[in-house]
Parts: sequence; C-alpha cells; structure tokens
Amino acid sequence: MPELPEVETVRRGLAPVMEGQRIAQADIRRPGLRWPFPPGMAERLTGATVLRLRRRSKYILADLSTGETLLIHLGMSGRMLVSGATGRDMPGQFHHTHPAPEKHDHVVLDMGSGARITFNDARRFGAMDLMDSATAETHPLLASIGPEPLGNAFDGPYLAAQLKSRRTPIKSALLDQRIVAGLGNIYVCEVLFRAGISPKRQAGRIATPRLEALVPIIRDVLTEAIAAGGSSLRDHRQTDGELGYFQHVFQVYGREGDPCRTPGCPATIRRIVQSGRSSFYCPACQR
Ligand SMILES: [Zn+2]
Repeated sequence: MPELPEVETVRRGLAPVMEGQRIAQADIRRPGLRWPFPPGMAERLTGATVLRLRRRSKYILADLSTGETLLIHLGMSGRMLVSGATGRDMPGQFHHTHPAPEKHDHVVLDMGSGARITFNDARRFGAMDLMDSATAETHPLLASIGPEPLGNAFDGPYLAAQLKSRRTPIKSALLDQRIVAGLGNIYVCEVLFRAGISPKRQAGRIATPRLEALVPIIRDVLTEAIAAGGSSLRDHRQTDGELGYFQHVFQVYGREGDPCRTPGCPATIRRIVQSGRSSFYCPACQR
C-alpha cells in the first residue's frame, strides 16, 4: 500500500508531464473505483489545463484551469504509468509509442504534449473525484486530516499536546490521520525504532521531550524515503514509465526474527499485531 513517500514520488513523476499541460482527452473506462466517479468526469477533464499538481496526505490534487481540482488516491494497488511524448524535464526518456492497453487500466489521460497517463488499479480501492478548487480542503476525504508532517504547522509542541492525553498505544496515535497526515504502518514502525520507543507504550505516558523529539525523526524518515523514491524515479523513467514503487532498506519493518541492526544489540526484531496491523520493533532498543 503506497504511503506518503510513494505518493510524493508519484506526484513528482507526474508533475513534469501534467503541470502546464492541457488534457486533450480523458478516457474513463468504468463507472468508478472504490466510489463512483463524479458525473461527467471525462467532459469536465477534457480541455482543462493542469495548473499545479500538489499533495495533501496520500492524495494527489491536480488544480485545473476550469476551477476544479482532480483528487487522485492510489488506494491499495493503484499505479500510474506515463508513456508517449516527453515532458519538460525528461527529454528523450520515454518511448514515443504507448503500450497496449492492459486489464485494469481504468482512467487514461492523453495530454496535449502527446504524453499519456494511465491509472491502473487491479484491486480498485483507488479513488478519483472532482471538486471546486476554492473549497477543496473541505472535501469529506480531506476535511479532518491533521497537519502535513513535513509542513510548518507540525512541530514539537503541537505533537506533544496532541499525544499527552491519549491512552492509546503510541503506534495507534501516530497512525491517527487527525493528528498527523499521511503516516502509515511502515513508516511509523521505522520512526518508533529510531526514537527508541516501544510501539506498545501508552502515548500519554511518554515524557514530553521524547514526544517532541518524534517530530524531527518523522521528518527525517519521510525525507529519506522521498529521496530514495527520487532516485527510483530516474530509474523508472528509463524503463517502463511506472511511478512510485521502490525498494527500501527498512530497519524493522518486515524483519521479524532478523537481528537488530543497532551495533552491539543482541536482540532480534519482533512482530506483534496492534489494531489489526503488524508492528515490528526491537524489544531491547525500544522501551
Ligand atoms: Zn536492538
């Protein structure tokens, strides 16, 4: 499931082929994905110019010249493929032909430049919607989301104030999208390992300085993953044009039974299930 760094990587891959470009034709091949598409979606997209491509939490938002914003969510298995003519930042890096349509290609945007963007989603948990740009932040999917973890509103005093009264485990609190936007299971495991905090610790019982110290760790973990995504983007551009999935080196995630990577630590990584999600942690390094 794509998390914030993967979504940001997709956004960065799409921006050069979408921003400033007109959608010459929108081909909508089914009535919806997780939810029905908005009425007249193909007509509302066709002819619009993409002014800006931004991200809010795990949503990609394309502000259009028509005053509407296209919301894109990759869901569990959504993939964005770029083919055809080149964008401004990637001269000559794509083949000038489009691949044959595949099963699960649900939405195809042909840009005025000749580039084609294909949204493929085998499991169909993804979503697309159109809304007024002026009131985009009030969209039901966006309205209750907390501050961006890489934004200025997210700082130590804010996070400590949010967590101080929580009786839930710190793992669950950090996954709460109302507290901070876009943090998912994988990166919360990595953050807590780096912070030396057990995922089982009750959020409200952690000392304030340790809570505040989570903020720079969260920023670092996400920034490093986004940087890794950036390098994968350069590789992907040269291969099949698929954006957003890349290999990470995780310290704890997916490493149950493997030795802890902290120098000198004799423990092995454990996995427990919290609120139906796997938590990976080192019982010696995380307290
Ligand atoms: Zn350890």
